[in-house]
Amino acid sequence: MPVINLERLSEYVEVPERAWLLLEKPEKEMSLRLSVRTGPDRMLITDVFVVYYNTARGAAKGGIRMSAEVSLEETRKLAELMVWKTALTHIPFGGGKSGICLDPDQLDSFQKSVVMQEYVHILKEDLLAGAYIPAPDMGTSPREMAIIFGELHIPQAVTGKPPSVGGLPGREEATGRSVFAATRLAAGRLLGKPLEEVTVAIQGFGNVATHSALFLAGAGARVVAVSGRRGGLYNERGIDVPQTVRTYSAQGKSFAGLSGDAVTNQELLVLPVDILIPAASGGVITEEVAGRLRCPLVVEGANDPVTPAASPVIEEAGIADVPDILANAGGVIASYVEWRNAKSGSFTSKDEVYEFIDQIVERSFEEVKATAEANGVGWRTASHLLALAEVLTSMRERAWI
Ligand code: NAD
Repeated sequence: MPVINLERLSEYVEVPERAWLLLEKPEKEMSLRLSVRTGPDRMLITDVFVVYYNTARGAAKGGIRMSAEVSLEETRKLAELMVWKTALTHIPFGGGKSGICLDPDQLDSFQKSVVMQEYVHILKEDLLAGAYIPAPDMGTSPREMAIIFGELHIPQAVTGKPPSVGGLPGREEATGRSVFAATRLAAGRLLGKPLEEVTVAIQGFGNVATHSALFLAGAGARVVAVSGRRGGLYNERGIDVPQTVRTYSAQGKSFAGLSGDAVTNQELLVLPVDILIPAASGGVITEEVAGRLRCPLVVEGANDPVTPAASPVIEEAGIADVPDILANAGGVIASYVEWRNAKSGSFTSKDEVYEFIDQIVERSFEEVKATAEANGVGWRTASHLLALAEVLTSMRERAWI
């Protein structure tokens, strides 16, 4: 079952039967076995899933997730989300994703390096051909992208590299930047409040969550809660975000000793705040959680944080929900700039990257708002409608349908 509800969307946009057939399943999915020697008597074996969902609009683009919980089903869903994310933001890529079934916290940096080298070896043909262009996702970082580059020596074959090896200044903060840009727009246009007057709870304290929190706090928003995998920190008066980022990292991912109260991941989701930003793992806002939300606005930093059953509950409760394919598109927008620069040899500054992300998010935000209002539908449906129309156009123009 695709993430988007083709049946519902076909009430608003004509979906030819051939398109239906092409979109209900991925173009290609691979279930691979990765095995590496990590010492004279040690071997590491695990599953790797790679999915190219649809490439009508360009090469399969999407991050590499490293987590003990990845599955083919999850990788398929995330690859599909990339199709709609790139389409909604008019970025000329298709959608793909990789999942490496390992807990990154259980690997030392040497083991992580050899895993990434072997990942390149098993996928080398596709990476060399540019058929799939990876980037970081949960559990991977610019360092792993640098290792991929080190194996291929083709700068445009992978994005999210450190700036010192052909990466883009601002790429690391890019997803947080788009979450910030979408939150600022939604606060102003949907809640009628400037950021200085809003309270925000953010689930997660990894790449997306920390940069979202830093940008929001920097613009005057009161970030009252953040969390890691084992729980978080709540301070009604506002968290000192830069200090919390430094201490959390220095203490090995712990909020101990910071000013505020402990909060569980479940409690964080239902705090009374103006804006809730789930920015950790998917599926956290279930139907049951949706019924207990105490915020007027959700901005989806994570991929797929709202389950299909929860979405109508949120809509009926009158809670505005800025979907993942709009709010967290900054990563792929910046990846596109990095890829373009690698091909052309040009350079873009961090400020230009932020400006580019802000512009694209604003354009898509306005398009989604107009589509939601014109069709009397929620933001998720409106985003999916626009993205689907874009992909249908490409498929038609390429004579696929
Ligand atoms: P990350 O690995 O840097 O951080 C993940 C954070 O989530 C950590 O704080 C971790 O402790 C927390 N976490 C993990 N599992 C959890 C659980 N079950 N419950 C509560 N917290 C949990 O990952 P990231 O890159 O920040 O990605 C976060 C989300 O944003 C993911 O859904 C990812 O797919 C999405 N996303 C990331 C990017 C990107 O550029 N990194 C782009 C688009 C979307």
